[in-house]
Amino acid sequence: MYAPDLLIVNARVRTMNPVRPLAAAVAVSAGRIVGVAHDARDLADGVPPGNVVDLKGATLIPGFHDAHNHMVGYGLSLAEVDLRVGTLDELYDRVAERAADTPFGGWIVGAGYDQTRTGAHPDRDALDRVAPDHRVWLKHTSSHMCVVNSPVLCDLGLDAVAPPVDGGRIATDPAGRPTGLLEERAQELVGNLTRPYPLATLTDAVAVAGQRYLSEGLTSVTEAGVGGGWIGQSPVELAAYTAAREQGRLAVRTELMVVSDAFHPLAAHPADGIATGIDLGLRTGFGDDWLRLGPMKIFTDGSLVGRTAGMSAPFHGDDFNRGYLQADAEQLTRAIIAAHRAGWRVAAHAIGDRAIDLALDAFDAAARRYPRPDPRHRIEHFAAARPDQVARAAALGVLPVGQGRFATELGDGMLAAVGPDRQSWLYRQRSLLDAGIVLAGSSDRPVASGAPLLGMHDMVNRRTASGAPFNPAEAVTAAAALRAYTWGSAYASQAEQMKGSVEVGKLADFAVLSEDPVAVSPGRIAGLEVIATIVDGQLRYGTLG
Ligand SMILES: [Zn+2]
Repeated sequence: MYAPDLLIVNARVRTMNPVRPLAAAVAVSAGRIVGVAHDARDLADGVPPGNVVDLKGATLIPGFHDAHNHMVGYGLSLAEVDLRVGTLDELYDRVAERAADTPFGGWIVGAGYDQTRTGAHPDRDALDRVAPDHRVWLKHTSSHMCVVNSPVLCDLGLDAVAPPVDGGRIATDPAGRPTGLLEERAQELVGNLTRPYPLATLTDAVAVAGQRYLSEGLTSVTEAGVGGGWIGQSPVELAAYTAAREQGRLAVRTELMVVSDAFHPLAAHPADGIATGIDLGLRTGFGDDWLRLGPMKIFTDGSLVGRTAGMSAPFHGDDFNRGYLQADAEQLTRAIIAAHRAGWRVAAHAIGDRAIDLALDAFDAAARRYPRPDPRHRIEHFAAARPDQVARAAALGVLPVGQGRFATELGDGMLAAVGPDRQSWLYRQRSLLDAGIVLAGSSDRPVASGAPLLGMHDMVNRRTASGAPFNPAEAVTAAAALRAYTWGSAYASQAEQMKGSVEVGKLADFAVLSEDPVAVSPGRIAGLEVIATIVDGQLRYGTLG
């Protein structure tokens, strides 16, 4: 053993090792854990006193890992105007304020307004008055609609006309003039004006998001879709992460999912079975401990609260609306099987039970036709899952990846969307564990708040914003929630051999918490403090000892 370059003592270590769940001291050398012990004296040989850190009883855990987040999207959102206000006057004031320091003709992008709080959507004419020389784009808190001003409508040729849009709507006043409100897929028109973002902008977004993540105890994240589609920001998005890393600004270890839109036919030898993919045969697993390609991300359906998810029976209170799939079922199935065959892991976004059936059928068919050991495919969200689908996911080794924080932030809308008969299907956790499935922790940030302690809190407490219980039978213990947000997320990245627990040989990534989240009363988990975050054996946030 090398002499450790860091020895942490007097800690309450939650190791995630089921055999030895607690320890008091950890030794680190060259970014790896080289010793874990109950008694610090067992590890102290050859350690200079200056390299010993006394945590004075604070809790040390493996660094948190968010298994599904949108890092660039979140980083960009931090630079947007915060529209979480109570009145339209306040909203217009904030836009005017931003206009004052934005160059002539530039974009003013804001997010977070809620017309149920402000009384109405913002209006193009009012926006033209406060920002006549700028392009204004204000996103609704749901991300399902937005409002733009006249210069943007002019760019789009929509100043005076509102043609029909597939899967969306350009809202008009009684005289037929567009009001600036764009719903659902009509929003893509604006996206086409602003994307692709320059790499420098995306690199800054990666950097600023990463600093925030460190302050929340995160040391790893999985980014749930780069490179194209409506979720990706640029076809060369990976280059932003590479640049951030070269500049020393990639704060956390990152796994990148590649959206299926970026996949294209490849002229490989037929014996290779690689008919589709991204160039050079890059696929899941390429990269290193800091930056790695993850699964292909494919959207099979939409949103529960927006009532666009693919359900087998209509939404509550709707006679006919069962949502819809994002593409032809056969086309989605073919894409999943082709990616599997080409060696990719696949992460299928599937919210409604009909979409979940499609994903499970495709994974089943892929495994039968092109068997390979432990493909570990994922279903993102798995939001409204029938009991038989839990059993089937377990049998297929498919990992549902849910979002704990949705309980508070979207829970009331979800309960209303499925009605009383299907509430027991929502965002399962306990039944997954009971079926032998590994639970991961994730937020879908910026859709919901991303601090892992908030996510853990909701995984345990399961309450909506209005205080209603959110499918409480699926609550898990704090110990299970902590395991999900560390080891479970590492498992969902097929990286549990190198991280996710405090064990010899693993990466020295830790969070230090003010108290033990497993020991405090469940109502206090969200209020715990992240004292320090260590990545690769280096202190990256906070203070030690
Ligand atoms: Zn997402």
